[in-house]
Amino acid sequence: MNDNTNLFGELVFNDAVMKARLPEDVYTALAETILEGKQLSLDIADTVAAAMKDWAVEKGATHYTHWFQPMTGATAEKHDSFIAPKSGHGSKAILAFSGKSLIQGEPDASSFPTGGIRATFEARGYTVWDTTSYAFIKDGSLCIPTAFCAYTGESLDTKTPLLRSMEAINKQALRILRLFGDSTTTRVVAEAGAEQEYFLIDEKLWKRRPDLVFSGRTLFGASPPKGQELDDHYFGSIKPRVSAFMKELDTELWRLGIYAHTKHNEVAPGQHELAPIYTTANIATDQNQLTMEMMKTVARRHNMVCLLHEKPFAGVNGSGKHNNWSISTDRGENLLKPGKTPHENARFLLFLVAVIKAADEYQDLLRVCAASAGNDHRLGASEAPPAIMSVYLGEDLTAILEDNIQAKERENVEIGVTALPNFPKDTSDRNRTSPFAFTGNKFEFRMPGSSFSIAGPNLVINMIVAESLRQFADALEQAEHFENALPALIAATYEKHKRIIWSGDNYSPEWVQEAQRRGLSDLPSTVAALEKLTVAENIALYERHGILTETEVLSRYEIRLEGYVKTINIEALTMLDMAKGGLLPACVDYQNDLAKLLSRKRNLGGFDTSAEEQLLDKIAKLSGKLLLRLGLLESILDDAAARKAQTAHSLAVFYRDNVLAAMNALRKTADELEPLVAKKHRAYPDYAELLYSVI
Ligand code: ADP
Ligand code: MG
Repeated sequence: MNDNTNLFGELVFNDAVMKARLPEDVYTALAETILEGKQLSLDIADTVAAAMKDWAVEKGATHYTHWFQPMTGATAEKHDSFIAPKSGHGSKAILAFSGKSLIQGEPDASSFPTGGIRATFEARGYTVWDTTSYAFIKDGSLCIPTAFCAYTGESLDTKTPLLRSMEAINKQALRILRLFGDSTTTRVVAEAGAEQEYFLIDEKLWKRRPDLVFSGRTLFGASPPKGQELDDHYFGSIKPRVSAFMKELDTELWRLGIYAHTKHNEVAPGQHELAPIYTTANIATDQNQLTMEMMKTVARRHNMVCLLHEKPFAGVNGSGKHNNWSISTDRGENLLKPGKTPHENARFLLFLVAVIKAADEYQDLLRVCAASAGNDHRLGASEAPPAIMSVYLGEDLTAILEDNIQAKERENVEIGVTALPNFPKDTSDRNRTSPFAFTGNKFEFRMPGSSFSIAGPNLVINMIVAESLRQFADALEQAEHFENALPALIAATYEKHKRIIWSGDNYSPEWVQEAQRRGLSDLPSTVAALEKLTVAENIALYERHGILTETEVLSRYEIRLEGYVKTINIEALTMLDMAKGGLLPACVDYQNDLAKLLSRKRNLGGFDTSAEEQLLDKIAKLSGKLLLRLGLLESILDDAAARKAQTAHSLAVFYRDNVLAAMNALRKTADELEPLVAKKHRAYPDYAELLYSVI
């Protein structure tokens, strides 16, 4: 276990394993298929499948599964055994895995969200091997990363559109590179690295909190005496129990070929972060899904629970997922890296303004891909970026783009910059409040929530940047003088879209006003954001780049609205359950104790009973209020149930405006009550216990 280099990727059927185990011609054919993202022919697939099976069996695997990512945001798997009957040999069995089983599966799609796509008579779905992501072994099963679609061909997962968006950006970026005289690059790849925040709490306490068990966040809980105000947890020393967890997690991730390389404490007590080394957006997505799963699994081995919810605790920071994004050539040249020559810098600036233009024109789509019931508690809560989109470039770069405009005004046909400074990270990464910051050679998108799949955010970034590049290529291919047209295009694009650039504090109220003045979109809630998926121009964009059809976009809109409603409904029911079954009885018990004491004191005579009297009165009043608010929430949920026939959108609006409000009111009263109730009478572990449970 000490030599981590041997361990790294030992559970992955990666390029090295393929090379070692496949006949040369099969390896070459497979490598080409992977590079071009094509379908594998059956005879090659048979050989690959046999090699994969042998390798997996040697590693102790007994089953295989098509591992896919339906629109639940989680991953799904259906395990089949390698064991097959040997024909003509009675009860003898062999281990078999055919090429057909490798490249295609047919899981029943009826239990996965389809947003109305699947006609009820055709419940079948298909999974198809995504050759661009390596197979791996997990829990004794060979997992084959696959795309998942309906029998009728519509995509039912998050991977398919992501792969299509990678195709789109490849195609448009190559057009740009050709204009710059680059005839050697054959592929441009979007790359991502997702920093993952999470909380760890003790498993025993977790089990006693139905809200954490059912909804992943606390629905009640008064503030603890100590929160994060001292900032003493951030980058503080790691507790031994957490450290043991991190060590084991790293090892598990390394074995899966995931290079987890940083770990530190985050701002809130009990909060931590893990970041892997970036890789292609597709693999990074698969790896992040695996990382989240592994975090939960390993935490349980240490009698802890890993919370991936965006806002597990009110009053302290929530958890996000910073999606670092860049594009590079197949030679590993980062196109967002400032260069050394004027030519390279012109190219860099063109790609840079392509992202700026994309972020400005499709602010709403970026907001949409970070929208969820959970993330609504986080965005705009002075800890995470607001629901308003903006881009941070850093002073140096902003100054260069500004100068460039002046250069254009002086009719300087040369590209305005001959040398760009090497942007040190500390100057480009100073603004931690920005939702979309340029950090030296990549963009860091900080809006997504900690439980998200990064497929959605990367899809959107790829698609909107592909659109900018498409327009640039159209214009530049037509231009008489590329050298003249280029600086003009860079300057004009920057000028037109610079309203999206903001270097100030994104958490400040002034920014909300300033953003309004600039005409930037502010979509404070998930429902408001999701509406943007129905806008014709946005649908047209998905269609133009072959990423999703109108039917697919609208089905996703439905699925996400339904998910929003279901999430809040579960939370509301859990609150009722906890209030009725735990909080109120605790108040009654405590009042009973107090009343007994009071009457004993009165019987004895001569005691001061004011404390008991006041407490009883306060608790009785608040308990009455709790009961009232509980009833209110109950009747609002009845009302919601009666609205089942309404559209997903109007139901979601009802949940946002009515159910959430009633939940908040109920919580407020419960949190007022909590500190008044003696600890021994409290129904649930409180915030102080939960947040400081792993020490
Ligand atoms: P931070 O200060 O935000 O923690 P890091 O340098 O640690 O920044 O990087 C954060 C994440 O960004 C890591 O997952 C890293 O692999 C990823 N990253 C670094 N360079 C790139 C790049 N060119 N493209 C995409 N992701 C990148
Ligand atoms: Mg970061």
